Amino acid sequence: MSAIDSLPPLREVIATHGLTARKSLGQNFLLDLNLTAKIARMAGDIGTADVLEIGPGPGGLTRGLLAEGARRVLAVEKDARCIPALKDIAAAYPGRLDIINGDALEIDATALLTPPIKIAANLPYNVGTELLVRWLTPATWPPFWDSLTLMFQREVAERIVAQPGSKAYGRLAVLAQWRSDAQIVLQLPPGAFTPPPKVSSAVVHIKARKTPRFEAAPKVLERVVARAFNQRRKMMRAALKGLAPDIEDRLIASGIQPTDRAETVGLEQFCALARTFDD
Ligand code: SAM
Repeated sequence: MSAIDSLPPLREVIATHGLTARKSLGQNFLLDLNLTAKIARMAGDIGTADVLEIGPGPGGLTRGLLAEGARRVLAVEKDARCIPALKDIAAAYPGRLDIINGDALEIDATALLTPPIKIAANLPYNVGTELLVRWLTPATWPPFWDSLTLMFQREVAERIVAQPGSKAYGRLAVLAQWRSDAQIVLQLPPGAFTPPPKVSSAVVHIKARKTPRFEAAPKVLERVVARAFNQRRKMMRAALKGLAPDIEDRLIASGIQPTDRAETVGLEQFCALARTFDD
């Protein structure tokens, strides 16, 4: 395995700084720097972009991003124990790495970034999904980010790219595919991480489209989709009963059979249904 920079191997970094993995922080580290450089390349043209990295940990992906030429990386890490290790990386790449010790769910780092902005992260499952939904549902579109390159457990990655008719299809698929292009770009077995998690993982690349695939008011679409999939076993007319007294007429006008279930309704029909409501 060839070195991608002059810094010590990650196992040594972890030993030096006492970074024993903590389950409570979802710490499953990537120690193969060739793999992290490969993931960094999946983020696209980072040479002219600021990259927001959430959860850098001991810095494997951070080093990948910097070695692959990221213009600048802003890294937000909750675990204070990792900060000295990240500072060593900052010293090796002068002026290109800024570090924030904090919780990504609480901190809004947008003001510290210069467009174009890419986001890259290998995060614990709960935090990752929560942040993804926030990034996909901003107040205005196009969003502040240009692309997201995110590691998820494989089952979540499959929900993001799922098509109608599959079990994995739901709210995440609609939100991710309405205004973005989403694809799985890498699959990773548990053994790629230290310590290995129980499940396989996958990297998803999501690129923001300038305009939505189909017109709809965001808040209305989010409400309709949340309701529809909240009771995904029910027929659409029952799941959406509370939304309007004439819901059956609205469904038919949108090309949806009232007896259809949400998991068979495509993006275009969901958007058509959202358009039958006021903002
Ligand atoms: N990026 C590193 C890698 O690939 O080896 C670490 C990945 S590890 C799966 C997740 C990282 O996210 C940990 O370093 C953890 O401390 C950090 N983390 C967990 N929750 C966080 C939060 N709410 N905000 C920022 N970082 C968080």
